[in-house]
Amino acid sequence: MTELTIKQPSDFHVHLRQGDELEAYTVQTAKHFENILVMPNTKPPITTAERLTAYHNAIQAILVKHAIDCRIFMAFKLVPGMGERAVLDCIRAGALIGKYYPSGSTTNAEDGPTHPSDIKEELRTLEQAQGILSIHAESPTSPEFLKERDFLSTIEYILERYPKLRIVIEHLSTAGTVDAVLGWPDRVAGTITAHHLRYTVDDLLTDGIDSSLYCKPILKTEHDRKALISAAISGNPKFFFGSDSAPHPFEKKHIFPVPAGAYTAPVRLSLLAEVFEENDALHMLEYFTSTAGTAWYGISSSNSYITLIKKPWKVPDCIDGAFPVAHGRTLQWQIV
Ligand SMILES: [Zn+2]
Repeated sequence: MTELTIKQPSDFHVHLRQGDELEAYTVQTAKHFENILVMPNTKPPITTAERLTAYHNAIQAILVKHAIDCRIFMAFKLVPGMGERAVLDCIRAGALIGKYYPSGSTTNAEDGPTHPSDIKEELRTLEQAQGILSIHAESPTSPEFLKERDFLSTIEYILERYPKLRIVIEHLSTAGTVDAVLGWPDRVAGTITAHHLRYTVDDLLTDGIDSSLYCKPILKTEHDRKALISAAISGNPKFFFGSDSAPHPFEKKHIFPVPAGAYTAPVRLSLLAEVFEENDALHMLEYFTSTAGTAWYGISSSNSYITLIKKPWKVPDCIDGAFPVAHGRTLQWQIV
């Protein structure tokens, strides 16, 4: 196959940042996509309806300016002491999810809970309001490779105490978490990134460190990658695409300490097409990127399409002032 037309995809996990960088990142991330879900770990964090609305309006203005037809969905951050009122206000302001970042788990996550009981009132409110909980599922105090595994018991704790809460586990990175999501009730889903489907820890560390691939959760083993691929191509409605595209300025990715975050917005569909093709599953790409996520979130979906063609292109070292994943490499697929 040299050409593939799919329904316009959705990306249910993106970081657009703030300030001068917001415009370029937004354009790159939103173009060709029908929906994007914007994460709230800004500074200050999105913890009030006012901030949520202001951030939404700033992004929307950029889309209008560039004539990009993409729906943006917003998230707010669950922090201890936030209170019931702020949760309800954020939901009323249109937030699709409340995001749980364990304290210290990733970029700008110092203010998160150390245990779900730190935000029990907020979680109860979210459940009662039929909101959706999104989780960065890593235990910050565990060794790097075990952070995700060690957080599974915390998810079980939440599942038990909030029996009606719908939950998305973000950026699955291990075979064990794939199994866990499969075993949990239908109200639990998981997003999978393009970079966790394409790369392993060896791409990050062997033959010199490739800091573009340094992200949280850290890339794992080939065994884990295979399990993620099986989930992504399976057509199981619990697994859908969220890129976790997380740009940092080019220079910051080249000096110590290197911040976590993989900028995949410019390459995410190329990477996905390669992986799906290698696994004889190009026919499942549309379900993973364009159907499963909107169905799970209950979002209407239009009848717009994009076409990918097989035409090699070399990824530059710098895109939008950031250091993209697959820099310097030749990818096989591109969007027409
Ligand atoms: Zn993220």
